Amino acid sequence: MLSRRFASAVPLQRRLLSTHAQGVFQRLGLSPDPTSSETPGVYHGSWGGRGALVDSINPANGELLARVRQASAEDTEDTLVAAREAYKQWRTVPAPRRGLVLQDIGRALEEKRDDLGAVVSLEMGKIKSEGRGEVQEIIDIVGYAVGLSRSIGGSVFPSERPNHFITEVANPLGVVGVISAFNFPTAVYGWNLSLSLVNGNATIWKPAPTTSLCAIATTKIIASVLESHKLPGALSALVCGGGEVGQALVDDKRVDLLSFTGSEARGKIVGQQVQARFGKSLLELGGNNAAIVLPDANMALALPSIAFAALGTAGQRCTTTRRLFLHSSIADSFLASLVAAYKSTASRIGDPLAEGTLIGPVHAQDGVNRYLAAIEQIKKDGGEILVGGKRAEVDAALSKGNWVEPTIVKVANGGRGFKMMQEETFAPILYVSTFETLEEAIELNNGVAQGLSSALFTQDLSNALKWIGPEGSDTGIVNVNGSTSGAEIGAPFGGNKSTGWGRESGGDAWKQYARWASCTLNWSNEVALAQGVNFSVEE
Ligand code: NAD
Repeated sequence: MLSRRFASAVPLQRRLLSTHAQGVFQRLGLSPDPTSSETPGVYHGSWGGRGALVDSINPANGELLARVRQASAEDTEDTLVAAREAYKQWRTVPAPRRGLVLQDIGRALEEKRDDLGAVVSLEMGKIKSEGRGEVQEIIDIVGYAVGLSRSIGGSVFPSERPNHFITEVANPLGVVGVISAFNFPTAVYGWNLSLSLVNGNATIWKPAPTTSLCAIATTKIIASVLESHKLPGALSALVCGGGEVGQALVDDKRVDLLSFTGSEARGKIVGQQVQARFGKSLLELGGNNAAIVLPDANMALALPSIAFAALGTAGQRCTTTRRLFLHSSIADSFLASLVAAYKSTASRIGDPLAEGTLIGPVHAQDGVNRYLAAIEQIKKDGGEILVGGKRAEVDAALSKGNWVEPTIVKVANGGRGFKMMQEETFAPILYVSTFETLEEAIELNNGVAQGLSSALFTQDLSNALKWIGPEGSDTGIVNVNGSTSGAEIGAPFGGNKSTGWGRESGGDAWKQYARWASCTLNWSNEVALAQGVNFSVEE
């Protein structure tokens, strides 16, 4: 039993993660003890799976949470067939009616928000409010899609020909494949599913293999709504698995849009492979985000904003602040406060579901290894470690988890030539350096391959306007006096350059999930050609 396994090692007043699990799993329709039997990881109207068994591990204590049966090649094929059939039915449903189904999905998610959020904490390692926040993000985007269901459509354009009518029509696209990363195990799917469904598409989700349980629990909630509306479950299909399952979606022409969230290295290949079959891709890849503090900044606002963006999700957000540039006149005092803030969080590293925890584990042992390798390299390259730089000490009950100390590294010369600062190490490591002018800070901000998020702290309007203007930050998300992470769903989300140029969530992102046509209707009895062309044929 999950709750008994660690019972002896845990002081009574501190409930361990696993003690939450049974009730949570039960309320989400999972087996109360998914370790005793296997959990099917394929859904396309019914649940199954004929692939390998993969363990879902709690990153906070190494505990086995579930054994998930992944998709075989045959399962993926069956899912593709079912999703295309489901799309044919769904595409004829008027968009406002699709909106009503989405509305019910939003309600169902709201009912399960805390439980699904807890599964995110248990399996991914996020703290409680972030796990819950992730589910809230899906609820928010579902609400956005409900609104869209009454407004999606194209423009009407004036025709130069008499009695002609030109309009853009947004038809359903087909099947949308969603391959997601471990660090947002539900919200990224929610962004894609909502916009895909409202546009009349079916969706196939391939989550990260280490967060299969989050995907199964989310799909169960959505499937129950589809079933209650007597709609095919394959509208929200799931194929759990690793690279080979993802690759099958990347290569298959029946996937009209492939939305990929993950590393730059994998995304670069995926983008080219989808392009090679003239499919559409949407890439949301790695970030290497900077924050800049000018001398005129409100320091009481800058410090917590930067601490949240650098420490939140234990440095495993694509939008995590990884580089901090401080004006030389305030650098020493700001850095002293930041180091003190980091030290004060040492007692708040631990069980992600415990009240008061700010920093949970790194998601996988791999992540710990990458952190330790980065620390070695930083030392070799002459970086000065001001705080952190090693495995974190935690309660004995958590000793099998993936724990590292959040780290600040001081780097000379704005970090120019410091190789590790050019890369995204997906762990809580913050590089700090100084600058003299805003222009120099912008050059440093823009001087990396990635272009996801950035933040400037200033009280001066002209600095802020320069920052968001043509000579300013080149990232897809640009903030003034706010964190690089924590975007809202209303605006498009995505990054430029090697982050992949993708845009998801709000704004016009929905347009990518439609098949667009410019339609000209001649309601005269005359043949009229544009640009004054004459082409009369003898009858
Ligand atoms: P990853 O690239 O290792 O894996 C991402 C997904 O790709 C997983 O589902 C994985 O199973 C799948 N995959 C692996 N091989 C594949 C193949 N051959 N074909 C198709 N799919 C395959 O990334 P990760 O470690 O899970 O996630 C962390 C990365 O994701 C970081 O770089 C982070 O910045 C990025 N990320 C970006 C955003 C964004 O919106 N820009 C959001 C979240 C995470």
